[in-house]
Amino acid sequence: MSAPYAAPDDFRTAVLDAGLLVASAVDGVYQLSGEFEDVLQGLQRHLGSQRVDHDAPRRWFPPVLPRAEFLRTDYVASFPDLVGSVDVFRGSDAEHKALLGDLEQGCDWTQHLEPAEIVLSSAGCHSLYATLPAQIPDEASRAEICGFVFRHESGPDPTRLQSFRMYEFVLVGTPEQALGHRDSWMPRALAVLEGLGLRPRVEVAHDPFFGRAGRMLVAGQVEAALKYEFVVDITDATGTAIASANYQQDHFGRTFSLTTGDGQPAHGACMAFGLERTTLALYAAHGLDLAAWPADVRAALGC
Ligand code: ATP
Ligand code: ZN
Repeated sequence: MSAPYAAPDDFRTAVLDAGLLVASAVDGVYQLSGEFEDVLQGLQRHLGSQRVDHDAPRRWFPPVLPRAEFLRTDYVASFPDLVGSVDVFRGSDAEHKALLGDLEQGCDWTQHLEPAEIVLSSAGCHSLYATLPAQIPDEASRAEICGFVFRHESGPDPTRLQSFRMYEFVLVGTPEQALGHRDSWMPRALAVLEGLGLRPRVEVAHDPFFGRAGRMLVAGQVEAALKYEFVVDITDATGTAIASANYQQDHFGRTFSLTTGDGQPAHGACMAFGLERTTLALYAAHGLDLAAWPADVRAALGC
């Protein structure tokens, strides 16, 4: 079966013409229409209604997190090409004058800025770990989280954004609890996406880890089946991952010094849904006219 669109450019033209996204001068940065945001909010509520851990705290994160916490995630080692750092001005009046002078002359004014104590968030769950208790309780720590993340992506594919939201169900605990969390979420995630009329296939993921060391990381990731992606066909060019089920082993337990009752580094897992991507996948599957979508899908999304 062929995808609804031949190429990412065709899909981009269609969603722009329909007014669902409004392009900026930079690839991957769009404004969203009110209708698009309504569908996305409906999706967010619908995903939340699938929660099974009713006591898990629900947290909405800002798009930035402390630089020191971000460094503990090791994201910059694996994906330096996707990272976004924030610069701020801390200068005097004289330095401000110099900045304005450079700006006026078309020179690099950003040399007057310096790195802030925050960076842009690269994944929803990164903001969570530093706020968990160092001693993870026997019943594990769970959270339902949402936040804007940034990735320095490029290209005409409107599903490859630089700024987007992730909705995640996270567990930190023993290896059995973490794997159990991920593996019990996979069929639930499939069912909720299918219930919205999407037909994802579940694939073992291979992330684009950076550089030569990255090739080893990706081999390990595939071999240990640490991450599964839920992939739909929006264009004939390539599948689009709208959600992922991740087992991070003891990575964040080690770097954030989180331990379980036996004194071992805690293991983590998360089920992550990309809100903008899944909304785009819904438009690709059901057409760009919301009024013509199946009634049960509109009812589930409340729009
Ligand atoms: P991809 O393989 O497509 O680059 P990813 O494996 O990096 O995605 P994850 O880190 O698993 O993605 O993020 C969870 C979800 O966030 C993805 O399943 C997807 O829905 C969404 N997502 C990831 N990158 C983007 C992006 N650039 N634009 C929009 N949504 C994204
Ligand atoms: Zn995550």
